Amino acid sequence: MISLDNVCKTYHEGRENEVRAVREVSLEIGADRTTVIRGPSGSGKTSLLTLIGCLSRPSSGRIRLGGEIISGLPEKFMTGIRRQTFGFIFQRFNLIRGITVLENVMLPAYPLGTDHAALKARAGELLEMLEIPGKAAMNAEQLSGGEAQRVAIARALINDPQMVIADEPTANLDTRLTMQFLDIVRTLRGQGKTMLMTSHDPRIWSADMVDTIITMEDGRVTAVEAADRS
Ligand code: ADP
Ligand code: MG
Repeated sequence: MISLDNVCKTYHEGRENEVRAVREVSLEIGADRTTVIRGPSGSGKTSLLTLIGCLSRPSSGRIRLGGEIISGLPEKFMTGIRRQTFGFIFQRFNLIRGITVLENVMLPAYPLGTDHAALKARAGELLEMLEIPGKAAMNAEQLSGGEAQRVAIARALINDPQMVIADEPTANLDTRLTMQFLDIVRTLRGQGKTMLMTSHDPRIWSADMVDTIITMEDGRVTAVEAADRS
């Protein structure tokens, strides 16, 4: 689905505080599978996710989506691809305070101009699928951590993306909520979504639905392995 060809991301290029966060990464991320990127803090996992999800551009190298080069496209096209293709679950969930759960879920769909009633119905269905329909009218800041994550997942799904990208999705969850998160991942895979996550949580990379594990160290991909199911 996505291929990276010699992709680099350097922050503050040419300056004293230059950081080479992603270095010469060439990779294929397959569709219809669950891929986990692991590696220590600071190894470039989040930077790589943002490149793949069209949230940032590589400093050099190419990214293709379904064979088409997307890394050099003008901003307008990148934004369009991002909205149609990817749903994001951010590490800190990034819910907007002061508006309701339902409004949070609907937010990424506003730029697409979907009919409001249809959108509201879809948001409601997603909250139901995630077993939190009773929270729709609450404000985001009133939720528990596990509930906030489910709202973040619903929001990631509102535009029916092909790929769901989650950055350290279980970093703030206890074991019970982690297992529930993995059940949701299983459901999404069952619905045909491609899943891409970062994690340094062994509970994630040892989970049975993980197909591929990518290891990063110091900005480089040092291993790509098929998950061990023995
Ligand atoms: P990880 O997700 O594996 O912890 P990151 O991709 O967040 O790694 O960070 C990789 C390196 O890039 C780190 O040294 C980090 O400080 C740096 N970095 C990340 N984002 C930025 C940014 N926006 N500006 C400058 N440096 C950044
Ligand atoms: Mg990170």
